[in-house]
Amino acid sequence: MSSIPFYAKKFVSGINIEEAFAVVERLNDKKICVTLDLLGENISEKQQAIKFVDEYDILLKKISEKKLDCYVSIKLTMLGLDIDFDFCYNNLSQIMRIADHYNIRVALDMEGSDYTERTIVIYERAAKEFKNIEIVLQAYLVRTEDDVKRILAANGRVRLCKGAYKEPPEKAIKKMSQIVENYKKLIQKLLLEGQRICIASHDDDIIDFCIEFIEKNNIPKDRYEFQMLYGMREKTWSRIREKGHNMTIYVPYGDQWQAYYARRLAERKENVFFVLKNLFKS
Ligand code: FAD
Repeated sequence: MSSIPFYAKKFVSGINIEEAFAVVERLNDKKICVTLDLLGENISEKQQAIKFVDEYDILLKKISEKKLDCYVSIKLTMLGLDIDFDFCYNNLSQIMRIADHYNIRVALDMEGSDYTERTIVIYERAAKEFKNIEIVLQAYLVRTEDDVKRILAANGRVRLCKGAYKEPPEKAIKKMSQIVENYKKLIQKLLLEGQRICIASHDDDIIDFCIEFIEKNNIPKDRYEFQMLYGMREKTWSRIREKGHNMTIYVPYGDQWQAYYARRLAERKENVFFVLKNLFKS
C-alpha cells in the first residue's frame, strides 16, 4: 500500500485506519471530537461501493471498541449514487444500521449540485428509519434556503458550509460577501430551530457572528458545534474549545485522496504555492 505524499499530509491524516486513529486520539486528548471521512467518490463499479460499505462497517466497529469521541462522514457517490439510486440507499442503510447499533453519528457530505436533490431525498428517507443521520448543506447554493426548511422538517441535523464545488451562476452565489451573508441568514434559522447544528467554517467573520448569536439567544451547548477541516487553523480549534464550545475536526484518510486534496488547493492559492515551492526544493 502506498502512503500519502508529503505535500498532501497537511490535509489528509493517513492511508489507513491506524494512521487516522492516531490523529483522532491526539484530538480527543484535547477534548476535540472528530468526524472521520474514508476518502472515495464517484465510483463506477458496484464492487467498489460494496468494499467501501465493508470498510465503513469495520471503522464503526473499531470506533466503538476504542470508545473514541468520533463519528463518520460519507459521500453518497462512494456508495454508488452514480450507478443506481436504490443500490446506493441500500448501501447507506447497511452502514446506518451498524451506526445506530453503536450509537455513532453519520453525516452525508454534500457533493456537486447534480447530486443535491438525490442526497436530500436519501437523507429524508433515512431520517425516518435511523436516528443518527445528519446532512451537509451549502450556503452558496440558491436552493439552500428551501432545503433548510426540508431538513428542519425531517430531523433538523445539519452541517452548514459555504460549498466547495465549481457551480454555474444560475445555481450558486458567486460573490464571497453574499455567500457569507446567506450563511449568516441560514445559520440563524438553523440554530434557533434545529436539533444539532454544525457550524462548518474557518471564516472568523462567521465564527464570531455565530458565537455572538449563540450567547444572545442562549442556545444550549448540546444543540450546536463548530467544525473545521484537518490541517486548517489548528490554533483556532483550541481557542474555540477553551471558550467552552463543542469542536469537531473533519479528518479524511484513505488512498483516494486526490479529489479531496484538489478541492483544498482550489480554495486557496497559497496552498498551490506551498506545493510548488516544496516540489522545486526536493
Ligand atoms: P474561507 O473564506 O474559504 O476561509 C476562511 C479562512 O480559512 C481563510 O482565510 C484561511 O485562513 C482558512 N482557509 C480556508 N480554506 C483554506 C484552505 N484550503 N487551506 C488553508 N487555509 C484555508 N464543502 C462541500 O461542498 N461539501 C461538504 O460536504 C463539505 N464538508 C465540509 C465539512 C467541514 C467540517 C468543513 C469545515 C468544510 C466542509 N466543506 C464542504 C468545505 C466548505 O464548503 C468550504 O469550501 C471550506 O470550508 C472553506 O470555506 P470557509 O467557510 O472556511 O471560508
